Amino acid sequence: MVVYLCFDIEDLVHPDSDDIAYDIATLLADDGVVGSMFVVGEKARLWERRGRQEVISAVGMHDVALHTDHHSVHPTVSEYLADLGWTDGVAEAVRQEAPGVQDLARLFGRYPTAWGTGGAGWGPQIPAAMRQLGVPGQVYAHVRAGGTGAGWFAGELCYREYMPFPDYEDGYADDAAFAAGLPVLLDRLSAAQRAGFACYGLFACHPTRLRYKEFWDLLNFRHGQNTPPADYRFAPRRSDDEYQTSLRNLRRMALAVRDLPGIEIVGTGALNQRFGGENAPLAWEGVRQLAQTVRDTATLEVSNPVASPSQTLDLLARAALRLAEGPVPSFLPLRTVLGPVEAPPVLEKPLAVPAAGAVTLCRALVGHVNGTGHLPAALQSAGAAVGPGALLRGLAAALPVWEREGRAEEITLLPGTEEPESAAPWAARWIDEAVPRWAPHRPDLRVDRLSLHTRLQSWSLKPATLVG
Ligand SMILES: [Zn+2]
Repeated sequence: MVVYLCFDIEDLVHPDSDDIAYDIATLLADDGVVGSMFVVGEKARLWERRGRQEVISAVGMHDVALHTDHHSVHPTVSEYLADLGWTDGVAEAVRQEAPGVQDLARLFGRYPTAWGTGGAGWGPQIPAAMRQLGVPGQVYAHVRAGGTGAGWFAGELCYREYMPFPDYEDGYADDAAFAAGLPVLLDRLSAAQRAGFACYGLFACHPTRLRYKEFWDLLNFRHGQNTPPADYRFAPRRSDDEYQTSLRNLRRMALAVRDLPGIEIVGTGALNQRFGGENAPLAWEGVRQLAQTVRDTATLEVSNPVASPSQTLDLLARAALRLAEGPVPSFLPLRTVLGPVEAPPVLEKPLAVPAAGAVTLCRALVGHVNGTGHLPAALQSAGAAVGPGALLRGLAAALPVWEREGRAEEITLLPGTEEPESAAPWAARWIDEAVPRWAPHRPDLRVDRLSLHTRLQSWSLKPATLVG
């Protein structure tokens, strides 16, 4: 199992927190252990303004990823996306986060390898924005597919699973607490390895919390407040002894994890490369199997590494068109297909669509994907609005008939689910509940649209699998 060791470098308040990032980056490098440094864009700019080139150089010995452009400063990611739709949300995410991507690239001399969610500041449009910006991965994602530790969502590699050291940073400051926590952590990592995870994040620490007993943002950016720099409140400090103890124990932890059998520590850049691409040519037999899986499960599964539900529908529609037109190809290429941008309608009753109408539906679906990269929320057929779920079930049932007959035939569209079954309970737990609870968020933050778009884009979810 591959483990990526995460450090969230985000303290915009305490200038001497810069030294902590330097100390950690140096001690890890001395041991040949690569860290995944999640640096807030504004933090990197502060280093530049304060002339801390040695900090930038030390952190740059490791893997560098963007931990949002401005983290808990308002508006946070969830706050600036809360009232937006999909397309305007992606554009806003690009506008807000591009300066962080560009400044890390400029200061570190290379592109950030990932974007890491700040706290519970999730935005479903961020993975699509990062894909546009050329940042290949998203860490601490509020989406999950399968049990590999990595999945595809909105065309982006997203990493969900990570574990912290027991008691987080407080567990390093005290030798007895550390001695109790380390075996627990190692057991949990070994359990994840036995469970078959290809990768797992180990949240090493917020460097600032090795020195400061409270979070910089809870003191200054809680519940929507933006404290100006001249009025910053500073957190109580740990003693120098506690700080040195923390560094020593952090180092012991990293070495103990590195020495676990079958575990390898890599940075997020190397991690991204361990996974194959989202798309590949699929043999015709694979298309048949996808249709069979849809017929067997009668649900929209996000656990099939071959194709997400949206890719499956796009493939079946293209396969149906080929069947309607002549001989079938040996392969059909998979392509990135995002979910609908609005909630699809649910059919009220079964709808029989004649052969010509079925072909027209397939053409309209493929045309919509060609033009937008998304599934349509609805297509019109015989006076009814047809959602992608009904069409997926109808085409999966029709495919073997069309293949046997060598031509298009009538299809029957059945009422049923229009989003993956896992989407609503997941969004209830990880968006509706978790996002408003993050202390920096303003109390009146509404998350219904964040939740909706996470659910709709779960059409594009599938597990990522290792190369080879
Ligand atoms: Zn953070």
